[in-house]
Formats: sequence, structure tokens, C-alpha cells
Amino acid sequence: MNRRDFMEGVVVGAAVAQGLRVPQSFAAGVPDVLPRAHWIDNGLIDAGGDHEPFSFVVRRGGRSYEAAREEYENAQSEEMIRRLKEQGVEVFHTHLYKGFGMVAEKPEMEDAKRAAEIVHRYGMRVNSYIQWNSMMYETFFAEEPRAKDWIQRDIEGLPVLLTYGYQQSFRYRPCFANPEYLDYLKKVVRYAVQEVKTDLIYFDNFDYNPEPDSCHCPVCVQGFRNYLKTKYTPAQRRERFGFENVDFVNPPQWNRQNPPERLQIIFDPAIQEWIDYRCQVLADALRQMALYAKSLNSEVVIEVNPHGITGGNRAFEAALDHARLLKWAEVLLTEEENPASLTSDGRLISKIRSYKLARRFNNVLVTYIWDDPVAMGECLSFNQTIGFAGRYPSAPHPPPPEMVRYISFYRKNRDLYVGAEDVTPVGVLRSYPSITYHHARAQLSAILMEQALIQARVPFGLVFDEHLRDLSKYRVLVLPDSECLSNEQLSSIRHFVENGGGLVATGLSGLYDTWRRWRVEPGLRGLVDTQQSLTGNWIGGCCGYEEDVEALKIPTGLPVRKEVGKGRSVYIPEAVYDGPLPEPEHYFNISNRFWKRPKNWEDIIDSIRWAAKGEIPVEIDGPEFLVANVVQQSGKQRWLIHLVNYNAKNVPATPSIDVKCQLPQGKTAREIKIVSPDLETPRTLNFTVQNSATLFSVPEVKVYSVVVVNW
Ligand SMILES: [Zn+2]
Repeated sequence: MNRRDFMEGVVVGAAVAQGLRVPQSFAAGVPDVLPRAHWIDNGLIDAGGDHEPFSFVVRRGGRSYEAAREEYENAQSEEMIRRLKEQGVEVFHTHLYKGFGMVAEKPEMEDAKRAAEIVHRYGMRVNSYIQWNSMMYETFFAEEPRAKDWIQRDIEGLPVLLTYGYQQSFRYRPCFANPEYLDYLKKVVRYAVQEVKTDLIYFDNFDYNPEPDSCHCPVCVQGFRNYLKTKYTPAQRRERFGFENVDFVNPPQWNRQNPPERLQIIFDPAIQEWIDYRCQVLADALRQMALYAKSLNSEVVIEVNPHGITGGNRAFEAALDHARLLKWAEVLLTEEENPASLTSDGRLISKIRSYKLARRFNNVLVTYIWDDPVAMGECLSFNQTIGFAGRYPSAPHPPPPEMVRYISFYRKNRDLYVGAEDVTPVGVLRSYPSITYHHARAQLSAILMEQALIQARVPFGLVFDEHLRDLSKYRVLVLPDSECLSNEQLSSIRHFVENGGGLVATGLSGLYDTWRRWRVEPGLRGLVDTQQSLTGNWIGGCCGYEEDVEALKIPTGLPVRKEVGKGRSVYIPEAVYDGPLPEPEHYFNISNRFWKRPKNWEDIIDSIRWAAKGEIPVEIDGPEFLVANVVQQSGKQRWLIHLVNYNAKNVPATPSIDVKCQLPQGKTAREIKIVSPDLETPRTLNFTVQNSATLFSVPEVKVYSVVVVNW
């Protein structure tokens, strides 16, 4: 037994002694999947309460001491908790730890414990806020002098700060490669689980700063070198770097003439590996912390706030690879500002990508929906639960009346949501190396292909690199400029198509390996024939220091279809941006300024349907601002088709919508009804059956409706 196993054994023993629920899997050592809390499967309705402790409000400045104190006490009062309970809230969100150190925060942590007792008395659950990423050094260093070595330091040795405006330089970022800081944070987690008896731990500020503001502390520099040695054999290091000894490799350094936010294509092996290292450090820290919490009580839910799919290069900028992280969480918070709407210039803005990301990893998405019924409808459609019903900022602001109406609708119709699985005949790959190393192109292409699918109401799911190993649940795989694919991934895709799957690839897909080295032989050759091959792209720029982006422009053209084995493939040169591209943003962020339906969306959708051999099981007519999600409850033998009117502000009710479904195993409908917060009572629909397809019309959608198709 090594020391780690021993320590974890001690922890498990302590938890058993306290009568907490310890998962069986811990008895045999550390599990490699997160034991999931059972209660979260019944959905989440969370609101507060406030996650700021009083001392933080005072230190931040600008507030009356007395008023801040009154607000703090009100936020966790029995009156507030009772009111939230009456509104249908089931989980009370409150402060626990902000980063001042446990000594400085002790009185307020005890307040949180007292509030939790009230919450539990009311039959509700507690969500405890734990600041993951702030060390308020003024008090923390007084408590723990060694913490000077626990903070992130830039290349000059200065502390790395949280970047909240001009006036929070008292908040240092701790280093997550430093085991001593993680051990400290475990004490906070233990307090949350054992003293507060919390039901949910919320780790806020889950990210790193963008370059050049990454941690160069000794632990990280040495950690990076060790990582390279563990990840690669000497022969692989020689292939990666041209040499074997990485003992002197440093994290990348930047120069003023070439700021990181202007770097368009990343091919330097050390920068690529440093990005990977940073992502792995954060994912490992979460894994460790989540498993620690679960070892104390497996029914504690883990929530993180790394935001969702925002259009940013999250790996390069923030050290976030969602596919690595979300295995160690059950709730994902995003604070992105992508409110469900149709803009006056015709962009359909949504958080659908973030919802789909969360669902792919069995997480509940938590975001701000309190101020708009369209956002509430979007949430119920794609999240299958409410998530966060409170107002932001989360000072004592109980849900407003419209939110309460949606909570009540959800609670009344909960059986339509619990256990529902997404129907996703189409999978869109979000390839980590493609998007990280050539963000300007691969992220834009992914966004545009997703946008075409969203606005054509074709049900789809997101695919991440690891999922390429088994594509059997999909009819069609979409590769949106998935430039960087490994040999194994390419052979898996080939196998999928030859055995009857559909492939739709665009642009530069498959032309590089996962280190973004161009392939002499295009990776998808044989599956697609008309793709322009590269011959090495070092013709432009100055002296071959950077890859020539202009030379990567592929002439647009019509899709080319091909039968391959039992399957079909389509090559589309480009998802064509409709109009002049907006000016690039820092780090080539593809913010919602870019989220337009592509000009050739009809070609794209026709190609996907052709590649699927017509086996996309639902077709939903309707205007471009009507969005749909299809889920299945197998045990209850029904489909639920969720419909949301994203333009409800301007078009209060859609025209009648025709729907055609091919239900599973050739079943036909037995009964179809509409349930909606916009209807007094559910309404039954007439339908017909033609050639095993079920056809019906939905008279109108005001904001949000669910069509229940029973078979
Ligand atoms: Zn560090």
C-alpha cells in the first residue's frame, strides 16, 4: 500500500465512523470513474441565498457595512429559506468558503453550517460555494506562511491574479500543480461534507489565465518536464522535439512583437504540450478533489464553473478541456452571455452547444435563465431540468414570478423529463487538437455546422475525440474542419463508413495528425476523393516562421457524394459564412457575432440526410427561429419533442408545424399530446400513419411546448 492509498483508507474509515455513505468502489482503492450521486438524477432546482461571505463584501469595498451585514443575514435567514421552499426551490445555494483562509472565515463558515441545518429541516438540500481559485493573501499568508509557495507566479516571479477589473489585486491564483495547496483545499471540502453536511459542492472560478499569464512556479516548470518524461518514451521525445533530454525545456515565453492573442496556428511542440499540461493539471486537481469528497459521502454532487462552449479557445486560453474535466463533475456552470434569441441581424443565439456538452458527459447545465421564458424553455428542452432558478448576482433574490411559473410547470410534469435520453442520429466532432491548434478555422467550422443543424431542427449530439472509438450510436458523423486526426481515429471512421455509417467532412478534415503535422497522404483519402491535398504550407509569412493561413483557403464548391462500402460520404469544401466575416477577436474567439446559419446550409443539411440514407428519424417543419430537441424515455415507450420559439418577442406564436416521425423499431404512435406552460391543460393531437411514419401538425408554439408521442 503506498502512502496515497493509505491516506485514502484513513479517510474512508473516518467517513464510515460518521455514518456517511461510502461507495463500495472506494473499498478496493481509488475508482477511475466518479461515483454518481443518485438524487441528482431526479433533476435540480437550485436558487439562493448568496455565495458571497460578508467579509468579502467588506474587503471588496464600496458597500455600507450595516447594509451589507443585513443583506448577508437576510440571505441565509429561515424566512428566506422558507420562501424559496414555497416557490418550489429544492436546493439552497449559499456561501461557504471564499479564499481568505479557514481561520479568517471560521465565523462565516459556522453561519453556513447553521443555515444548512435549517435547510435540511425544511426537507431541502444545500449547495455550498467553495472558491476553487482565489487566495486572499492578506489573511491567508497570516494563517499559513508556506502559502507563499502555493501561488501561481508568472515568468517574472510575480503573483498571478484573478482578473476582476482594476481593484481585486488581493486575490492571488493558487497553483493546482502544488499538492500542498490541494491538501489545504481538502480541509475545506471535508468541512463542507462532514460539518455542513452539504449535498452539493460548487467549485467556482474553474480556469487559468490566458498566456502570457501562466504559472512558471518551480512546481510547474519541473512538473512540465516530468509530464513529458512520463507521457513519452525517449524515442517518442526524439520524434516530438528532435532530442530526448527535456530537463531544460521551459514553459513557452512570449515576446512583445508577437503577443499570444494573435497566434493563429499552433504547431510548436512545446506550446502544444504546455497547453496539454495545463489542461491536465486542472483536470487532475478536480479528479482528486471530487474523489476525495465522494470518499466522504458519495451522495455529494460536484459542480464546477469552467463555462461551456462559448466560441473561445478554452484549452489555450483557460487550460480547459471539457472532455477531461466533466468526467469528474455532475453539474456544469456556464456564465456565458448567449441569451436564447433571434437578433435583428438574423443570428440565432443559444446555449444549446453548452447544454449538449453537459449532456454528453451526463452533467446538468446550470446557467442564468431567470429573466426570460425563452431561456427557460431552452433549458427544459436541452437540459431536461431547471438547474439554477435564482437571479444573478445571486444576492438574496428569490426567483421572479415567471421563473416560479416554470418551476411549477416542471415539478408538475417532472415525469416527462426524468430519465430522458437524447436522440442523436447525427454526431458533430469537436476535435481537441483541431480546435486548439487552429481555432480560427476549426471552431468557426464547428459553430457553423452546428448552427445549420440547430436551425434545420435535425437532432444531433456532440462527439469528442474519445468517442470516435465507438460510433455505433450514430447514423452520420460530421467532421467540421477536423484537421487533426490520429491514425487510430481515421481507421475507426473508415470502419464506421464501410459498415454503413454516413460521413460528412468539410475543408481540411484529416489533413494533419494530432500534433498538427501535415500528412503527405490525406487522412480521409478513399472516403473522400475531391479534397485538395496539402504539400506543406511554408510558402508564406516571413522566412517560414509561421504557417501561411491564406494558402489554406480552399475554393468553395458543391458537395461531392460517394458510396463507400455499405456507407456513404460527402465532402463539402466549406461551411460558407453568410456575408463578410467579422474582424478577428483576441485569441480568434468565435463569439456569437459569428453565429450565423451558413450560406450553404441547405446543401449541408441535404448532404447529412443523404449520408444518413434518410434514416434521420424526425423531420420538423417550421421557421428558422423554431428549435427542436428530441428525447426518448424507452421504459415509458415515448418520444418527447421539445419545441422552442426563439423569436417569441417578435412573433408571439409560430404558424402550424408539420412533423413526421419514424418511431423506434417501426412502431407507430398510439397517442400524441402537447404539454406546455403556455397551455392551461394538455391537448391531444390527431395523427395519421403512412408507410410506418407518423404524421401530425402542431397548431402553434408560443414560447415552449413538449409534444409527447406515445407508442
Ligand atoms: Zn505552478
